Amino acid sequence: MEYKDIVSSKKKNIALVAHDHMKSMLIDWVLRNKDILKNHNLCGTGTTATLISEKTGLDVFAFKSGPIGGDQQLGSRIVEGNVDFMIFFWDPLEAQPHDPDVKALNRIGVLYNIPIANNVSTADFLLSSPFMNSEYNRQVIDYDKLSNDRKSLVIE
Ligand code: PGA
Repeated sequence: MEYKDIVSSKKKNIALVAHDHMKSMLIDWVLRNKDILKNHNLCGTGTTATLISEKTGLDVFAFKSGPIGGDQQLGSRIVEGNVDFMIFFWDPLEAQPHDPDVKALNRIGVLYNIPIANNVSTADFLLSSPFMNSEYNRQVIDYDKLSNDRKSLVIE
């Protein structure tokens, strides 16, 4: 398997997502870290992004609401290399109607090797990383090479 680098610049593209019972936790975390987060580009699923903007005054780009396609929109931004890391507080105590989308978002984040925080302490560790103040090269599978290899396997 061949890999290539995707470079995160010093100013990071950060995705914020929280299920309904976790939203207040994420808003508190953002408020606590507002001075750091204001220097980065923020985006999130519809309701999460809108609430964070309202409660913190930060600019957060809003995709559609998660259950109606926002998780998938965010996933596509990860595939395009436009998300550097994700804070995703999914609810460990309640089933979600859009569970396939939740799984897909987590899967695509892992596949594209972005840091993902699923709880407050991991989010704290992420934000205090020295990589927050520098570029970071993350390795991802080189899918262009992979699809060429696959084509040559499928078409004799
Ligand atoms: P929401 O979506 O921010 O629109 O509530 C969150 C989610 O993905 O469930």
